[in-house]
Amino acid sequence: MSDIALLPSVNAFLERDHSLYIDGGYVASSSQNTLTVLNPATGEAIAQVSDATQADVERAVDSANRGFKVWSRTSPAARASVLFKLADLLERHREELAQIETCQSGKIIQISRAFEVDQAAHFLRYYAGWATKITGETITPSLPSFAGERYSAFTLREPIGVVVGIVPWNFSTMIAIWKLASALTTGCSIIIKPSEFTPLTILRIAELATEAGLPAGALNVLTGSGSVGKALIEHPGTDKVSFTGSVPTGIAVGQGAMGAKLTRATLELGGKNSVGFLPDVHLDKAVDGMIEAGFLHSGQICAAAERFFAHRSQIEPMMDALSKRLAHLKVGSPLDESTQFGPVANKQHQQKLARFFATARAENSTIIHGGQISEGPGCYVEPTIILANSVNDTLLNEETFGPVATFYPYDTEDELLALMNNTAYGLSASLWTNDLSKALRLVPEIEAGTVWVNMHTLLDPAVPFGGTKCSGIGREFGGAFIDDFTELKSVMIRY
Ligand code: NAD
Repeated sequence: MSDIALLPSVNAFLERDHSLYIDGGYVASSSQNTLTVLNPATGEAIAQVSDATQADVERAVDSANRGFKVWSRTSPAARASVLFKLADLLERHREELAQIETCQSGKIIQISRAFEVDQAAHFLRYYAGWATKITGETITPSLPSFAGERYSAFTLREPIGVVVGIVPWNFSTMIAIWKLASALTTGCSIIIKPSEFTPLTILRIAELATEAGLPAGALNVLTGSGSVGKALIEHPGTDKVSFTGSVPTGIAVGQGAMGAKLTRATLELGGKNSVGFLPDVHLDKAVDGMIEAGFLHSGQICAAAERFFAHRSQIEPMMDALSKRLAHLKVGSPLDESTQFGPVANKQHQQKLARFFATARAENSTIIHGGQISEGPGCYVEPTIILANSVNDTLLNEETFGPVATFYPYDTEDELLALMNNTAYGLSASLWTNDLSKALRLVPEIEAGTVWVNMHTLLDPAVPFGGTKCSGIGREFGGAFIDDFTELKSVMIRY
């Protein structure tokens, strides 16, 4: 097989002079500074985007405040209708969006189509449905009546205001959709700050949002480096930040938000997620599980597993079977439809993974499979299996965010639980067993925001998702996001 041909509309989009999306259209930045977007599969420059300035931040915040006034007064049914239309437009432009995403992120085209477009549209429709279902409650106050007067009360859920949505590079479209959908369905306006590595697809989506009928200023996109995100969060004209990214940046974002004006913050951060195989698990099922949990999108998924705990009697055959499966993965260009394993998303990330491999060797962990990066211009990294030497090994404790599965043996169930919980993170975990009653007894003992049984990594818009411990604050999806994007107003009446 060979690379698919890029659509003429994709080539035309990439060649454009990309500016900022403010007030329902493109606006030139106040400076000539640009950032170069590189294709991680080839190392080639594919586009230039603006690096927004403080003056651009002022313009975007001003526009988002005007957009908020209009959008928050738009009826819930009309809001839902715009979001449903946007979902239809995502699907109509499926191939175009998927190709842009693959060119900027190196994600294999099948994942761009299935997740960045199809799943994103599915999530968007789920959120759109909430616009007409957000309610307060009626309350009978508890006060005693002093002179025959009576009381009644109710609560209103009101949109929080201007949201800043800060997005990482791993799922630049889907995560941006989670943020804009949460904000827009609740009546907030939003300014998206995409990752400097993957700023392109969301610009095209902003155009589609305007086509779907979104009023000017309800969605603005400011491209640029982290300093643009910082300026937005600390601006007095923004009310909430919804951040997805690494723990150190998340802590800085949370501190900046609190220090600004108690700006509300939802933080979806990194993970060092555990898989626990109970001894009854079938080997073939375990291997399928390991591929799903650790190697989908080269492990560049916050919920992906990086720590694999297997019973001492089974760890060798498990690593052996996984190694055989990894050897057969077809590594190649992400634009080739037969490729199963593409590059990682950028050079910095590839170098970071190289440093992890060097650390593993220095600490005498055993590299069972892989453990090298490619020398060429593409950011390729071998899918890797490591057997840790001790529970203190770096690879068993620090998030690599790459295609790296680190194994460690256990002897007893208590030991398994202690190992799974021995981490500063708490995003996700999975248990693999045919013994459902045992699984249900273990689930409450596991310190993670999501625990899967016989599956890993699958996110559903109806099921809340977010981290405990250092993996974050707040929940996306389900009805849980509504608390984070609205303020509760209590109204009390005496009669
Ligand atoms: P990152 O923290 O480096 O950057 C994330 C975003 O923050 C980027 O847009 C960046 O420009 C911006 N940023 C950087 N400094 C900033 C600052 N001081 N103020 C405001 N914004 C700033 O993360 P990354 O490398 O892009 O993404 C990988 C990380 O994201 C991993 O740790 C991964 O686990 C995490 N992640 C978490 C989830 C989740 O839902 N929990 C989902 C995807 C990725």
